[in-house]
This record gives sequence, structure tokens and C-alpha cells, in this order.
Amino acid sequence: MASSPVVIVGAGHAGVQTAASLREDGYDGAIVLLSDEEALPYQRPPLSKAFLKGEMDVHGLPLRAEAFYRDQRIDLRRGVRAQRIDRAARKVGLDDGSSIGYGHLILATGARQRRLDVPGVDLPGVFALRNIADAIALRERIAAGVKVVVIGAGFIGLEVAATAAKLGTETTVVEIARPMGRAVSPVLSDFYAEAHKAFGARLFLGVGVSAIEGTDKAEAVTLSNGAVLPADLVVAGVGVTAEDSLAREAGLACENGVLVDAHLVTSDPAISAIGDCAAFPNATLGFVTRLESIQNAVDQGKRVAARLMGKPAPYDALAWFWSDQGDLKLMIVGLSHDVDQWVVRGDPATRAFSTFGFRKGKLAVVESVNRAGDHAAAKRILGVGKTLTPEQAADPAFDIRALAKG
Ligand SMILES: Cc1cc2nc3c(=O)[nH]c(=O)nc-3n(C[C@H](O)[C@H](O)[C@H](O)COP(=O)(O)OP(=O)(O)OC[C@H]3O[C@@H](n4cnc5c(N)ncnc54)[C@H](O)[C@@H]3O)c2cc1C
Repeated sequence: MASSPVVIVGAGHAGVQTAASLREDGYDGAIVLLSDEEALPYQRPPLSKAFLKGEMDVHGLPLRAEAFYRDQRIDLRRGVRAQRIDRAARKVGLDDGSSIGYGHLILATGARQRRLDVPGVDLPGVFALRNIADAIALRERIAAGVKVVVIGAGFIGLEVAATAAKLGTETTVVEIARPMGRAVSPVLSDFYAEAHKAFGARLFLGVGVSAIEGTDKAEAVTLSNGAVLPADLVVAGVGVTAEDSLAREAGLACENGVLVDAHLVTSDPAISAIGDCAAFPNATLGFVTRLESIQNAVDQGKRVAARLMGKPAPYDALAWFWSDQGDLKLMIVGLSHDVDQWVVRGDPATRAFSTFGFRKGKLAVVESVNRAGDHAAAKRILGVGKTLTPEQAADPAFDIRALAKG
């Protein structure tokens, strides 16, 4: 174990998990957990789901109670930004002018909202959704009758759109490609396009945004095809980029995130990087990827803690993810990169089905809509490296649970 303290920059899902796992694994030294947000570290997924719908209040959001940090001797410092890393002196400079020495430094800085580069994007009434402040601002404004234009039909944009439609807004979604196009199968993407129409949204697919119009606030969104969409509220959900500025300025190798090896160590052995900010060699895919999911953040946090406690192992956790849109619960296990064959199990018309994606004949990913049983079986099948044929996957008589158990 490196000499104390362990300093963790970023108290999101990855950072908090690392601190907790270090204590669970028996680390007795000092842990400093730095957060540039004032809020007690919180869960992000509900921000576009239960919290936005008003089904959960701020008290439901914290990852851990305040007492946890005190009891576990985790020195959580809120509202403090790490500004600079002095690698030679092993110190982190903070924005309050102080600095902290580290034995090992863990970057868990997450991702930041990608900026939509069109005129009018800075007008009041244009929102993003990355943190609790964004969610509170949106929640205060989304109400029946409000005209909401969501730009970008990724997971978060579509979750917001489903919630907005449910709350009775006039919801419009604009997407330059197809819904969730980078991450899911064409069948699923098409299914969700239809589902959102049924939720009450208008969809403009395959068309970009050229400007947000308005004098004192956003009043309309102009599309690249010339259409003008009246808007009281615009939500830009055009993806995120890794928050790797601290690492870059410190001279650490970065490329679409902080580059780490299979053990999540950066180009400096005294510094690790985990979660949304880390670009790691993906054992399943055979190339470097960056994932934006709770599973990845939590499992990487656990893995780094174990390594620091003398139990190193390469990061190879099975990727999984979920998204709730209206009454549709989507669960994905595996990764869809380079999938060359998709088959459907069940009937999308019943609103409960799965798609199985194969890479060179081997099962790579399973997307399940309202079919938790398929997801659970697929997790076990992929988790132990088993496979099945596309014909078996598509055959309702083929027992995938038996395969998973066998
Ligand atoms: C609205 C929303 C809904 C989501 N829904 C899902 C879902 O349903 N399922 C799923 O799997 N994933 C979901 N995600 C993604 C998931 O939340 C992220 O993958 C996860 O939060 C990544 O954890 P992290 O710890 O790497 O980063 P984060 O949780 O982003 O935490 C990073 C923290 O570091 C702080 N920070 C950055 N730089 C500094 C600095 N220099 N000094 C101090 N602090 C700093 C940031 O402010 C932030 O608080 C969702 C994300 C959002 C925004």
C-alpha cells in the first residue's frame, strides 16, 4: 500500500465507492475525498427519472448518509475543487489556496456536458442535465402545458422527454441521427422512436439544430431543415466528454479520457483514474474504451481499492446498464460495438422483448425491454463466457434460463 493519504478527486459514484471499499478492505490510513459540488455526494440516475418526475425528493438522492463519512474517517471536503497536480511533490493544489500531499491519487472526476455549438445556446431557458443543480432547475420548470424541446435522443434526453411528456408538457425531441443510435440495436432504436410518439412526444429524427432563437430567453429552436419549434424550455442532451483537464494539465497521457492500463493506473504509477473520466483497455472488446455507467464507476472503484490493498487484478467486469423511459425498463448487458448480427426474442408489439447481438457468431450483448428475466439470464451467460446460437436466442421454446444455470 502506498503511504497515506489516499486522495480521491471527485465524489461521484466512483470516488465514493473507492473510499468505502478501501475501508471495507481494511485500509486504516487517511482518505481525503474532494468534491467541487456542495451537495452531499448523490446518485445521478434518479435526476432524469424519479427526481425529475417529483417522485423522489432531494433527501432520497445521497449515496451515503453524512454520518457514514464521519464514522468511516473519510475526510469529505465539499465545495472544493482540485486545481493542479504537482506530480514531483505529490501534491494536489485546491482552489481555496491550500494543498494536500498524497501517497496515491485517484482521479474520479467524471464527465462534463458536451456543449451544443449553435447560436443562442447561452440564452436563459436552455438547460443541460448533469448534476443536482441542473435537475432542480429543470424540475422547477417542467410543468403541464410548457413547450419542451429536447435536443439529442440519447439515454438522458429520452428519459427527460418521457418524464416531460408524462407531466403533460408539449414535448418535442430533435435528433440528428436515430434514438440512442450509438449504443443500441436498430430494432431497439426504432421501437423507442415509436414508443416516444405514443408517450405524446413529437420526434424530428435525422435533422440537426441550427439555432436557438429568443431575445431575453429561449423562445424557439430552428432546425437545419428550416423548421421552427416554439419552446419555453430547451434541454440539450448531446452527450458528455471526459473531465480530464486536471490530468492533461499535469501531463498525464489522455485521449478521450485519462488513459489507464488494465489495472486502472495512469501514465504516473502514483495516480489511478476510474469511472466516466477513464479510458481503459477493454478486455472484451480488445481496444481502449470509456464507459459512462454506474456499473463501470462502482466496479472500477472496487478494483482500485483492492489493488491498493495488495490484491491486484486487471479490470474485466461485465458491462451492464439500464434506462427507464416511461413504463419501459431497458436493461443492457454487454457492449454493442462491432456487433454484426441481431436477433429478436419475443414480440416488440407486446412491449416486452429482448434483442441478442452477436459478434462473429458469439453472444456480445443483450438488450431487454420489460424482460428482467432475460437480462438476469444473459448476465450469467455472458459472465461465464458462455454463448448460444442466434437461432436458439430467437426461439421462444429455447430455455435461456436453463442455459444460464447449467
Ligand atoms: C441524469 C443522469 C442519468 C443517468 N442515468 C444512468 C442510468 O440510468 N444508469 C447508469 O448506469 N448510468 C446513468 N448515468 C451515468 C452515471 O451517472 C455515470 O456514469 C456515473 O455518475 C459516473 O460516475 P463517476 O464517479 O465517474 O462520475 P460522476 O458521478 O460524474 O462524479 C464526478 C464528480 O467529480 C467532480 N469533480 C470533477 N472535477 C473535479 C475537481 N477538479 N475537483 C473536485 N471535484 C471534481 C464532479 O463535479 C462530480 O461531482 C446517468 C447520468 C446522468 C447525468
